[in-house]
Amino acid sequence: MDHLSKSNTPSLENFWMPFTANRQFKAAPRLLASAEGMYYTDIDGNKVLDGTAGLWCVNAGHGRKRITEAVERQLRTLDFAPTFQMGHPVAFDFAERLAAIAPGGPDARLDRVFFTGSGSESVDTALKIAIAYQRSIGQGTRTRLIGREKGYHGVGFGGISVGGLVNNRRVFPQIPADHMRHTLDIERNAFSKGLPPHGLELAEDLERLVALHGAETIAAVIVEPMSGSAGVILPPKGYLERLRAIADKYGILLIFDEVITGFGRLGTPFATDYFGVVPDLVTTAKGITNGAIPMGAVFASRKVYDGLMNGPEGQIELFHGYTYSGHPVASAAGIATLDIYEEEGLLTRGAGLADTWQDALHSLKGLPHVADIRNLGVVGAVELTSRDGAPGARAYDVFVDCFRKGLLIRVTGDIIALSPPLIIEKEEIEKIVSILGDALKRAQ
Ligand code: PMP
Repeated sequence: MDHLSKSNTPSLENFWMPFTANRQFKAAPRLLASAEGMYYTDIDGNKVLDGTAGLWCVNAGHGRKRITEAVERQLRTLDFAPTFQMGHPVAFDFAERLAAIAPGGPDARLDRVFFTGSGSESVDTALKIAIAYQRSIGQGTRTRLIGREKGYHGVGFGGISVGGLVNNRRVFPQIPADHMRHTLDIERNAFSKGLPPHGLELAEDLERLVALHGAETIAAVIVEPMSGSAGVILPPKGYLERLRAIADKYGILLIFDEVITGFGRLGTPFATDYFGVVPDLVTTAKGITNGAIPMGAVFASRKVYDGLMNGPEGQIELFHGYTYSGHPVASAAGIATLDIYEEEGLLTRGAGLADTWQDALHSLKGLPHVADIRNLGVVGAVELTSRDGAPGARAYDVFVDCFRKGLLIRVTGDIIALSPPLIIEKEEIEKIVSILGDALKRAQ
């Protein structure tokens, strides 16, 4: 605990805080010191219920000894080994374990696994695989990528190009991409439970972009099956099925970004399983190691993999990889994480919690400033009306209030997002709703 005691109010001089307006950020940051199960403990010793599984990643709860021990053991045995044209058994074992539960179901598993170090790397990897695949099958003019307004796909140059959050994009040059409309429609869908009933027709926006650019220029379309970072945006009923059909019609690959939805968040191992729609590539990270060690993975279908392997003689299939692809310590953490997920049934536990979660969240309807409530699996959002002239300020106040009362939530603009660890019990669901409800009643 030595490192914890040095500074309860750390200097802001050196740590350049990510996704933080450092120029304005002058307050002492809230500091978390330790974590166990569903709770953080902050630097002052206060317990804080983790309503967000860290950043959507600690699906099995905090401080899992099995992961700690696996990491320690691996560090002592083999701390690092290259995986370029060689390797170590742990990465191969982990890929095999992942393949057994890979998205797509028993008949169509996307069981070729490319390891990365993060969600952003997974996204850029998948986009590159898509473009390389198209070239390999003789479709070399297909280099354009399609994303969606309000989509979040990490912060690599590929990810921001297909991403649709304006703040992440402006300033930086982008690779050729365009964006379908987003599917958030509070006017028609406010307070609907689970998947929104209206908006299926928004999938036809892909047809518009095909007409605009020409199918022969488009390599892939990438969507989050459920958008998390922009404030929990759910696909209307039938929407993903329709996207799949349009993509197929024009030879466009479909990529699901499951960095958040992967590993049990919706009550199925992957969102792909939840929706029964099988994409060509799936990106993951976060829950793959329960957040303990940075890692990501891209799952590719046999069609994509074989397409790359059977390309023209002499053409390089995919020249791509990371120093930390299949890192032994991350792989060991991942195997231990999968052990926990499988033994405790966490990849499907959310299905049994979903109704309780839904009822609890929707009990907040009618409280001051609440404009919409959305839920799916063990994800929820409470969207507030903005305070005049100060968008985001009200939700931020609620965030501060909740933290003070012992609950960690996440806010994006005026949207409060919730995604607790999947080990959550009913009492903790009630506690989340109770603290949040009280904070909403106090909000100005
Ligand atoms: N894709 C999605 C859907 C995400 O939610 C995130 C992170 N929130 C990323 C990509 C980027 O992941 P990372 O921060 O690990 O690079």
